[in-house]
Amino acid sequence: MTDFNAIQALDREYVAPTYGRFPVTLVRGEGALCWDDQGKEYIDLGTGIAVNTFGYSDRVWAEAVEKQLRCLQHTSNLYYTAPCAELARELCLRTGMKKVFFGNSGAEANECAIKVARKYAMERKGPECFYILTLVNSFHGRTLTTLAATGQEVFHRLFNPLTPGFLHAEANDLAAVEALVQKYPVAGILIETVQGEGGVLPLEADFVRGIEALCRREDILMMVDEVQTGNGRTGMLYGYMHFGVTPDVVTTAKGLGGGLPIGACMMGERCCDVLGKGDHGSTFGGNPVACAGALSVLDRLDEALLASVREKGAYIRAQLEGAPGVESVTGMGLMLGIKGKKKSADVLAFCREHGVLCLTAKDKVRLLPPLNIPMDLLKKAVSVLKDAFKED
Ligand SMILES: *Cc1c(COP(=O)(O)O)cnc(C)c1O
Repeated sequence: MTDFNAIQALDREYVAPTYGRFPVTLVRGEGALCWDDQGKEYIDLGTGIAVNTFGYSDRVWAEAVEKQLRCLQHTSNLYYTAPCAELARELCLRTGMKKVFFGNSGAEANECAIKVARKYAMERKGPECFYILTLVNSFHGRTLTTLAATGQEVFHRLFNPLTPGFLHAEANDLAAVEALVQKYPVAGILIETVQGEGGVLPLEADFVRGIEALCRREDILMMVDEVQTGNGRTGMLYGYMHFGVTPDVVTTAKGLGGGLPIGACMMGERCCDVLGKGDHGSTFGGNPVACAGALSVLDRLDEALLASVREKGAYIRAQLEGAPGVESVTGMGLMLGIKGKKKSADVLAFCREHGVLCLTAKDKVRLLPPLNIPMDLLKKAVSVLKDAFKED
């Protein structure tokens, strides 16, 4: 089954049509490159939406995964396994967090964070203190609870009633956040340091620090959704590290596994003992193969790699800012959003035709290249992008 049309037809007949797919069937990848069923080569600046941290089928990652796969693929959480324990230690050592709960996705990591905030607040302030405050234009997942957390009405309207108890304030408006906290008993505030799906918009540093101060003052959990911004993507190990704050809860997923499903909810000093036996669980959570892959990813996210992420991000910015047809470039590190004069769908189609794969976020073209993309491929891809943004 390698015929392009046949695969598309099969997919259309049998797969739930929840995704708008590009007319490309990918069959193989290596690093920043991948190939479709026609043998056409692409430079991939999307990494499966910030998942393939070191590109496709990276050798070091694949070996770590394969070794674990041939040793012990799953045990359930009734037993101890080394990869799970070691990954938790590594995450805590690198962030200062104290304990980790593992799930399989970003949404699941955020569900855990919400449960932690609710139990923390219930025990200290009573059962009416259950509100979770998030930001307008945020994205936190597709389950009914993380949809409620997501501050975008377009995702809500077909699925009401969602989980109650969520409040939304405008990003970078500390007064609006304070007003809601005065009006409602808030258990936790959940923010993305760079709003990803919302258009690659970094929060202002004063706002993030203001949230931290407010959370300390009111004994509210400060929770950061690092599902997309985490694991080196922004040029720091986690996005919050740019802002000099210490969150109480950090969630991550996407790039942590390097291509396998994993989610993590890290809990700091104030709330690491909130969840007890039986309070939460996940059959696949902490799966040894996913954890072995994640350990190998984290291991390589050292200062030299993070510095190169910042440099490559700066290179893309310098090339595209002020280029013909480009209005603005936002984001951090290798998480960038480019607003052009042309429609982003047209920019993507041009890029695809010329062998470059990109993403969109709202009305922007979004770039999430592999963190180790070789400079020659990056240069080539950026030159295609520049041509794509040019008006005819
Ligand atoms: C992608 C994303 C999620 C959801 O992750 P899934 O693994 O798809 O559940 C949550 N939060 C942010 C910030 C994301 O970018």
